[in-house]
Amino acid sequence: MSRLISVKQIESPAPAPGATHKIQPRSFSGVYRRLRIAGGLVLFALYFGVAWLDWGGRQAVLWDLAEKKFHIFSATFWPEDLVLLAAILLICAFGLFFLTVLAGRVWCGYACPQSVWTWVFLWAERLAEGDRNRRLKLDAAPLTANKVARRGMKHGLWLLIGLVTAITFVGYFTPIRGLVADLIAMEASGWAVFWIFFFTSATYLNAGWLREKVCFHMCPYGRFQSSMVDADSLVISYDAARGEPRGSRKKDDLQVSQELGDCIDCQMCVQVCPTGIDIRDGLQMECIGCAACIDACDSIMDKMGYARGLVRYASERDLKGGKTNLLRPRLVGYFVFLALMIGLFSWGVASRPLVTLDVERDRGMYRYTGGGNIENSYLLKLTNKDSSPRYLVIEVGGFEEFSTTGPGGIVVGAGERVEVPLSVAVPSSSLDSGANDVVFEVSTLNQEGAVITGTTTFLGPPKH
Ligand code: SF4
Ligand code: SF4
Repeated sequence: MSRLISVKQIESPAPAPGATHKIQPRSFSGVYRRLRIAGGLVLFALYFGVAWLDWGGRQAVLWDLAEKKFHIFSATFWPEDLVLLAAILLICAFGLFFLTVLAGRVWCGYACPQSVWTWVFLWAERLAEGDRNRRLKLDAAPLTANKVARRGMKHGLWLLIGLVTAITFVGYFTPIRGLVADLIAMEASGWAVFWIFFFTSATYLNAGWLREKVCFHMCPYGRFQSSMVDADSLVISYDAARGEPRGSRKKDDLQVSQELGDCIDCQMCVQVCPTGIDIRDGLQMECIGCAACIDACDSIMDKMGYARGLVRYASERDLKGGKTNLLRPRLVGYFVFLALMIGLFSWGVASRPLVTLDVERDRGMYRYTGGGNIENSYLLKLTNKDSSPRYLVIEVGGFEEFSTTGPGGIVVGAGERVEVPLSVAVPSSSLDSGANDVVFEVSTLNQEGAVITGTTTFLGPPKH
């Protein structure tokens, strides 16, 4: 049997979920905390960094609401590409399903923005008010200058993080460099200021005040994730067979130690839990899978000289002495579907036409021009979804004799849409009926053989 040490008991148990008083989680280091920090740093670097990246002379990722187009690096998506954007959402959803069946709420614990921003707000809180015990004391202390200063610093930091988050978020919808310059010059538009105010408040409230309540009451994923895990999912679990009967003990009390399980009932796993639950009560909807309880318990096990893993990633089958089955039909099914969706999406992006043409006929009727010609007017909408400019040649078909007024070719910039007004005049004698077909052909010099066509109606006087 291992050598025993005494372990300090806690003075104030964490509140139960749903309790009205605030949860003050204890900070704890360990392997999973480092993983969480790494996940958070990657997310932060992507969120705050990508907004400032340029690609081909424009912001790399930008949802241009005014122009109704979405740039992601070299690709530009227009409203007609909505099906591809919907496919991205489907891929994300099935990726999440796959992860949940495999390992429970790993997404929530390591990469969900609500969790990551809450960890950062907790860090700011610790910076301003100290560790858990100091914060508990400060909560109970009367209002002094020190308390006001510390609270002020905490809320100031929270608001600052919220503000930077909000400016970056709005910067994904309106070019961020111009937005920041306008804010500094106090010339930002009313809408930009409104959304920055809105998202600052939302971040401050969600990560500072609501925290785990967002996961309990507002997040739909938290509701259905418990129905997705199965007996083979690797979820954070307490090994009751090893830990029970629980009980405190002195490190050297070998006799007590032999009578009890490995859980020394120190409640450290409860103190570190950001949602205030006790993992020893089994899998609960409130568990966000952050693994803080694993780090805490492993460190206690180290101090006691016991093997690590009393709280660990384990499947229900594993805890019952069986072997976890990773290759089960549901998991394989999600994986196959996910691979299929990614393949279809890649094919859809690669094979979509990079130049599109929409033809709108002028609302008016036909016009007579000199020499017995009939004229119709059109608006050609040319879109270049490519990452480089294209010279587009416009040709008209459908008639043997005709003349056009308008450009025969035009340069369309990368990710741009231009509207080209064009009139077609046809001798009245060449028209077969009152409504004839006219074909517009657009070819691109950069891509030999690629021709796109748009057919519409050419109106003339009725023929009897
Ligand atoms: S029970 Fe453990 S994994 Fe779940 S939220 Fe609490 S500390 Fe995180
Ligand atoms: S499970 Fe581990 S951390 Fe939790 S009370 Fe038992 S020994 Fe302490």
